[in-house]
Amino acid sequence: MGDKQTPPDVDRVAASRKAVAARRARAALKRDLATRVVSPQEMLRRADAEALSPAGTMRITDFLTSLPAIGESKRERILAELGISPVKRLGGLGARQRHALDVWLDGRFPEAGPRDARSRLIVLAGPTAVGKGTVAAHIQEHHPEILLSVSATTRPPRPGEVEGQHYYFVDDAGFDELVARGELLEHATVHNRYRYGTPREPIERALAEGRSVLLEIDLQGARQVREAAPDAMLVFLLPPSWDELVHRLVGRGTEDEEERARRLRTARVELASQNEFDYRVVNADVADAAAQVVALAG
Ligand code: 5GP
Repeated sequence: MGDKQTPPDVDRVAASRKAVAARRARAALKRDLATRVVSPQEMLRRADAEALSPAGTMRITDFLTSLPAIGESKRERILAELGISPVKRLGGLGARQRHALDVWLDGRFPEAGPRDARSRLIVLAGPTAVGKGTVAAHIQEHHPEILLSVSATTRPPRPGEVEGQHYYFVDDAGFDELVARGELLEHATVHNRYRYGTPREPIERALAEGRSVLLEIDLQGARQVREAAPDAMLVFLLPPSWDELVHRLVGRGTEDEEERARRLRTARVELASQNEFDYRVVNADVADAAAQVVALAG
């Protein structure tokens, strides 16, 4: 056994393992870009912060084609326009190129900026399995001063769910009546199955008392609240990465294969709507995400 030969072999194995891990990490980041879990501007910031990170070592060509609606020919035109060589990596751009890319991205994929006005009516939405319910429950437990709205639904109760605490369980006719009487601030059919709606009265009462109110509802509902109460603050909960979202959905184990695939397709569409929201909060840690939402409530 040539002891002298072992270290280089070990080094080679370690180096190739590292290269494989780096490629995987970059592939995961490309999925994050394609699904809009991470904005292109955020990816650039990460590349800036660390040139040797997976973001920093991503090729500019891969970066661009991971963005929605950019194919190879469009990519070549953009690179020429920005004066960036196709062999460049994100972390290796010159200051001028970096700036040109930033300006181009802001024009094409505007990041929603925080609005001036604060509101005590907060809507928490986000893709399936991102953990909206868990974050809302955490807020309810630690911040009883904030009212967590209880929705009406035609879905039958799950084991352990309590009437009036988790939901108001109603049948179809009962739901129709709530709608007809104008008692719901918004309502929608979620996952093509059951109807859900937000009772208007408790919210108006709490707001009149100066309390903050949190709605944990789906995207269609968030859009309706925006229409009905334009000063409401819309918060979009993001997963730390696309792979993590897939992992959470699979880990939950409550849906079969077909349903999971359907929900992931829905999640992609939902993620694409995040720019309609005033704020985005990444749910990497429940307590931390909850604290950020509470801080927004002012
Ligand atoms: P679940 O049946 O798992 O409790 O909830 C399913 C989905 O319905 C979740 O995405 C939740 O955000 C949404 N949801 C719950 N209540 C309401 C509501 O009042 N209005 C709307 N639009 N969606 C709701």
